[in-house]
Amino acid sequence: MFVCYGMFVTPIVFFLLGISFGSFMNVLIDRLPRGQTIWGRSHCDHCNKKLRWFELVPIISYIGQFGRCRRCHKRLSLQYPLIELTTGFGFLLLYPQYAFMIIFCALLVIFVADLKYQIIPDSMILVGILGALLSKPYFIPGIGAALFFLLLWIITKGRGMGLGDVKLGFLLGLFLGFPRIAFALYVAFLTGAIVGVILILRKRAGLKSKIAFGPFLILGALISILYETTIRTWFYSP
Ligand SMILES: [Zn+2]
Repeated sequence: MFVCYGMFVTPIVFFLLGISFGSFMNVLIDRLPRGQTIWGRSHCDHCNKKLRWFELVPIISYIGQFGRCRRCHKRLSLQYPLIELTTGFGFLLLYPQYAFMIIFCALLVIFVADLKYQIIPDSMILVGILGALLSKPYFIPGIGAALFFLLLWIITKGRGMGLGDVKLGFLLGLFLGFPRIAFALYVAFLTGAIVGVILILRKRAGLKSKIAFGPFLILGALISILYETTIRTWFYSP
């Protein structure tokens, strides 16, 4: 079916493919950080009921069950339909650039896994690196970003940054190149600091609390891609 490109592979097919793949992304997000197998059947987070096939249809099942488990009637996480839709739109926008679709999936899993569990799964870093190698890898910016985070890790004795951030820095540098990686770091530290101050002021976090930095890095990467032209003018104009 995917042998013929162009007119035969419609955007709708890729959107639906993305939504279906999004279900698998949810499995990766919640199981990789906890070291669980990704092959077992999905179950309800509250009552552990194993889900039947008709409870696993992306988006449709969630809407059909009004966002609740069929057995215990507890609320299902909004994460499930949100990740499914995000993957659907990601595939729709990025196809047929398969390398970018691979990187998109890896970064989406890392974003939510780091936010929820403060863990960046190594396997997703490898998937992302594979995607970057398939597109146009920038080795020097990758190594540069990794060294930068390694330095921070050494200076803060592992309390400020995790080794996951070192690996994510390498992946983003490899994928973005210069000057996009520099701008991504700038945005990440700026937004990270702003959110940190807001959380402390609202007493949601103390000065010693840890906030996952991965999501800020990925946000920075996204902004550096969307505003590439503007950034280039900043960096290279006299
Ligand atoms: Zn349940």
